[in-house]
Amino acid sequence: MIKLENIHKYFDSQHVLKGIDLNVKKGEVVSILGPSGSGKSTLLRCINFLEEPTRGTVEIGGKRVDAESAKKADIVSLRNSTGMVFQQYNLFKNFTVLQNVMIGLTSVKKLHKEEAEKRSMEILERVGLANRLDHYPAQLSGGQQQRVGIARALALDPEVLLFDEPTSSLDPELVDEVLATIRKVADEGNTMLIVTHELHFARDISDRVVFMEDGQIIEEGTPEQLFKDPKMERTKQFLSRAN
Ligand code: ADP
Ligand code: MG
Repeated sequence: MIKLENIHKYFDSQHVLKGIDLNVKKGEVVSILGPSGSGKSTLLRCINFLEEPTRGTVEIGGKRVDAESAKKADIVSLRNSTGMVFQQYNLFKNFTVLQNVMIGLTSVKKLHKEEAEKRSMEILERVGLANRLDHYPAQLSGGQQQRVGIARALALDPEVLLFDEPTSSLDPELVDEVLATIRKVADEGNTMLIVTHELHFARDISDRVVFMEDGQIIEEGTPEQLFKDPKMERTKQFLSRAN
């Protein structure tokens, strides 16, 4: 479903991604772990071209875009096959919960208002927010806001969902409700890439775990392999927190 080939990213002269290759199968849940600054967010953002890779190829569900010859229309089409959940929620403050979820359906998917509303209500029900439709983001807890963020990503029925530290901004007591929602989304068979510092969660939810350092994937495997028997000393050190 996702195929990354030799992705490089430079910010000016800083070489942030150094040749990333990664394949994710349909329905697979892959967690990306690694120290701060290792390039995890940049990698996610290169997958949907929120950042343009300097070099390399991104393929999602058969749509293939080469960074060096990317056309605007191909980038838009690729981006529309992804849904992203951000650390800071990125909700529209002047829109209600329902409007935040509907907007993508009316503007990107060109659905009529009634249909967009019906679909948005169904999805908000799935993330447990059916009773908050007319609230504004400021009237919600962080956990509820992030569940709106998840609903908004799901609404567009993307081929892959990208999560960038979805619980890092939350007060500790709100983390679990968001993790439970992400787990539910995974159980529904979605293809997901998750950057997270929640090691127990990653171990639990993932089919595969990828460990990044300094712009490279230095080790990957099943959670079992990576957490129980890491090959690299660096991975061992980092993951020892979870034992
Ligand atoms: P992580 O998500 O693993 O913490 P990032 O992908 O955010 O790492 O950052 C990797 C490196 O790229 C860092 O050194 C960061 O400062 C740099 N970087 C990220 N985004 C930008 C940007 N928009 N402009 C310049 N440098 C950036
Ligand atoms: Mg990051």
